[in-house]
Amino acid sequence: MDRAPSVESLRAIDGTLHVDGPLVSECSEDFGHIVRRRPSAVVRPASAEDIVRTIRFARAHGVEVAVRGQGHSTYGQPLVAGGLVIHMRGMDAIEAVRAGAADVQAGARWNQLLEATLQDGWTPPVLTDYLELTVGGTLSVGGVGGTSHARGFQVDNVTELEVVTGVGEIRTCSAHQDPELFDAALGGLGQVAVIVRATVDLVPAPTHVRSYRLRYHDLPGFTSDQVALISEGRVDHVQGRIELSSDGRWEYVLDAAIFHSTPGEPRDAPLQGAVHHDGEPEETEEVSYRQFANRLADSVALQQELGTWHLPHPWFDMLLPGRHVNACVAGVLAQLDPTDLGGGTILLSPLHRGRLTRPLPRVPDDEIVFQFDILGTAPPDPATISQVIARNRTFFEQMRQLGGVRYPIGVIPFRPHDWRSHLGSAWSAMERAKARYDPECTLNPGHGVFRTDTTLPD
Ligand SMILES: Cc1cc2nc3c(=O)[nH]c(=O)nc-3n(C[C@H](O)[C@H](O)[C@H](O)COP(=O)(O)OP(=O)(O)OC[C@H]3O[C@@H](n4cnc5c(N)ncnc54)[C@H](O)[C@@H]3O)c2cc1C
Repeated sequence: MDRAPSVESLRAIDGTLHVDGPLVSECSEDFGHIVRRRPSAVVRPASAEDIVRTIRFARAHGVEVAVRGQGHSTYGQPLVAGGLVIHMRGMDAIEAVRAGAADVQAGARWNQLLEATLQDGWTPPVLTDYLELTVGGTLSVGGVGGTSHARGFQVDNVTELEVVTGVGEIRTCSAHQDPELFDAALGGLGQVAVIVRATVDLVPAPTHVRSYRLRYHDLPGFTSDQVALISEGRVDHVQGRIELSSDGRWEYVLDAAIFHSTPGEPRDAPLQGAVHHDGEPEETEEVSYRQFANRLADSVALQQELGTWHLPHPWFDMLLPGRHVNACVAGVLAQLDPTDLGGGTILLSPLHRGRLTRPLPRVPDDEIVFQFDILGTAPPDPATISQVIARNRTFFEQMRQLGGVRYPIGVIPFRPHDWRSHLGSAWSAMERAKARYDPECTLNPGHGVFRTDTTLPD
């Protein structure tokens, strides 16, 4: 096929076509800076019809298509070599905000949606820690945040999607209308459709947030207090971190927060249920809900200034069954050289399995599930990066033996047979949906779900 001249026909779209320049360079990499794949062109659609035209063009010419939100994946998930990238940044309208729900285009970032909804006193019930991610990008993987213990993933808080399927048809789907498509699109890694618009639940926004910090020296005490706090409903927001203390030991930090709308209240002791911590809870300052939601902004600005933001990020992300969380995490911490983190962080936070209602993303089979992330950086040295990737795969195998399941945003080499076993009982539904909505495997090859990704190590 003579790609260069024929792709020019896409200039007739309402959006823009880019065959070289900064956008093509940007779309050749993601936040991980580990995988590099140059597309032949980037389309910035202005409408669902533009996406239809792009996908139909790609099918007609046997070209693959990757969809890109903010490109904050870490292992080439939004990349495609020689194919087309659909860059959703321009499709970011907040179309409607009403009581209890918002209609938003998939290229909008969560902070755009939050700003729009706060004006009317609403908020999405689950926000990711970092708000510069697109609605379509997080709905493709799940979307977990500090309120997920109570509200599930972001995909649990969506009632309707407009999508363009891999055969280039615009469809509206929900739990009642075309549920097969809805189930495969939410948390479905973009394998069957491009999400164009989502109807996202909203809840009344608190005005203020009071945060508490508890420190622990033992892992079981830390995890058992986390479970107690979410089970007794004492706190609204929970996030656990694992840090290296000044004496070189692992230290466990629990950040818990109460949402409220009466400055100065509540004054009671919401952390009474926490019994294993060392010393008194540290009460951190009370801030507005907007400030709290944007709490990572300063640290991101600093990382950008220092340059660490642009280093490779070989992240490791899992969901762990509560009954084996201590064994899983202790095993990995014993093998982890803290200097490997490169100034990054480790997260460990609890969720109620019962709040996770969607077939995707996959989660461990236990009442309590923990989100576990090793969010490190690495020097831009291929040998070191290969070692960390091999280490990630080893950690994955160890955790899988104990019932751990991958949260699919990080850097773990996966081939189609890994995805098949990862999807488990959801595999046949995904395979059926793929055959129906993207039979030629046009969409999102970067995860390697249906075709082996040739850039992966053997
Ligand atoms: C600093 C940082 C903080 C993070 N914090 C969190 C967090 O708190 N919670 C959490 O759950 N995750 C978190 N993540 C991970 C993040 O949610 C995922 O990597 C997410 O997929 C990135 O969103 P994005 O808009 O950059 O998507 P991209 O990286 O551009 O795309 C991600 C995947 O989704 C597909 N995709 C994107 N848009 C669409 C669409 N409209 N339709 C169909 N498929 C699409 C892409 O093809 C790709 O496969 C964080 C990542 C970073 C870098």
